[in-house]
Amino acid sequence: MKRKLLRIGFCMFLTVALLFCYQRHQTMHKPAFVFAEEEKSIYLTFDDGPSDSTTPLILDTLNKENVHATFFVIGRQAELRPAIIERIFQGGHALGIHSYSHEYAQIYSSPAALLADIKKCSAVLESILGLETNLYRFPGGSYSLREELTGCVKNAGYRYVDWNASCRDAELPGATAEELFRAAVETPADRHRIVMLLHDSAHRKNTAEALKKIIPYYKNRGYTFKTL
Ligand SMILES: [Zn+2]
Repeated sequence: MKRKLLRIGFCMFLTVALLFCYQRHQTMHKPAFVFAEEEKSIYLTFDDGPSDSTTPLILDTLNKENVHATFFVIGRQAELRPAIIERIFQGGHALGIHSYSHEYAQIYSSPAALLADIKKCSAVLESILGLETNLYRFPGGSYSLREELTGCVKNAGYRYVDWNASCRDAELPGATAEELFRAAVETPADRHRIVMLLHDSAHRKNTAEALKKIIPYYKNRGYTFKTL
């Protein structure tokens, strides 16, 4: 009897050990890096909002398409429109800081001025949502900024994100929705990880219109929509 129990125990041990080895083998040979490389992702990012005229149209389209995006908001626009900020948040989208005043001469005058502006915008979001965020986008992007400005933002614990594609709605203010759509399709140049710049400020209704074609275009090409 004792020997039988021992035999059963040994068999069970062997089974568990074999299962463990098999799983390990599977994990080790799972080509995770291939997934990472082949997965196509797009991050839609909307700057300079919220606005009464454009942001709700964009939220309607995102909701209809069941897609999430990231909104880099301007503090002084946000404090006038807490309901839209709430709607963005409740819709499962990400919110980031884009500046309180968006006035380049003022915010880029010194690291201290820049951080004060960021904190002011952050406080607006916190007063509406009760949450803090460390996600940030420099007005105009970080590309041409002095190291002391990008460095102070990083050292203060903020994570800043630029873009590698754009619908060019800021450069082509009179562009039609079709022209914005074309830019949104051409500027990523076959990248597998796209961070696209768009704007949801007032007078960007054509961006909202273009979005109705941009989302299906990338869905059809196998892109997954993500938030930052
Ligand atoms: Zn901006």
